[in-house]
Amino acid sequence: MTLKEFQAAAESLPYTQKMPTLFVGHGSPMNAVEDNAYARAWKVLGGELPTPSAILAISAHWLTEGTFVHTAKKPKTIHDFWGFPKALYDITYPCPGAPQFARELIALTKKAAVSEDADWGVDHGTWIVLHRMYPNADIPVFQMSINISRPASFHYELGRALAPLRERGVLIMGSGNIVHNLGRIAWDEGAKPFDWALEFDATAKELLTKGDHNALLSFENLGHAASLAIPTPDHYWPLLYTIGLQGKNEALSFPVEGIAHGSVSMRALQIGE
Ligand code: ZN
Repeated sequence: MTLKEFQAAAESLPYTQKMPTLFVGHGSPMNAVEDNAYARAWKVLGGELPTPSAILAISAHWLTEGTFVHTAKKPKTIHDFWGFPKALYDITYPCPGAPQFARELIALTKKAAVSEDADWGVDHGTWIVLHRMYPNADIPVFQMSINISRPASFHYELGRALAPLRERGVLIMGSGNIVHNLGRIAWDEGAKPFDWALEFDATAKELLTKGDHNALLSFENLGHAASLAIPTPDHYWPLLYTIGLQGKNEALSFPVEGIAHGSVSMRALQIGE
């Protein structure tokens, strides 16, 4: 083969793009059935992103001692919420699983000792968003759990270790809420956001824009608004996986913004294009 022929052959190969990575604020399960700005924004996002080979979801609703990755070929839809309308329990998200990628993940993250899991499935932190982004449920989905006994830095480093999956076309999606205080929630549709919710959401946006990951990791030191925004870290932890995946100087955008029910930030973050 001449050099010219080689170059022509190389140019004809499909361009393999590094998959962007996401954090989404999932909020209330009602976002799966209500027609609102968040649901519409998720739909637009699903249409704009390159089509993933699989989706790895890290949801605030799968908390464990140790870290697990779900390996089922057909993960079940988990309705892990109580007292909501029947229409929500009737929804299933019959996506295929991604056991190959799950095992690849275990090999990539040896230091974190991730184990296989066959019992979980797709919880509402994942499916209420994917039901809008990819309503056909035709993209394989696998979840990784969050180890509740490890510090913020562990979640950030484990996120970083997942980076090679982006090169394989996997969309890695942390799903939680940057501001999440159910004790202060106002169920009224038009509830005004609390001042501290607006304040911490703005602080987080600023730190994310500046790339100040150290400050985001030490969220306990970010003052009174932070302590009200993050009364428990479960919904904040998924963000740390997402920012761990940010490459040097990699572009960042906020495809969804807003505070729902006074005390829940719906902010989404996209890293990469
Ligand atoms: Zn939640």
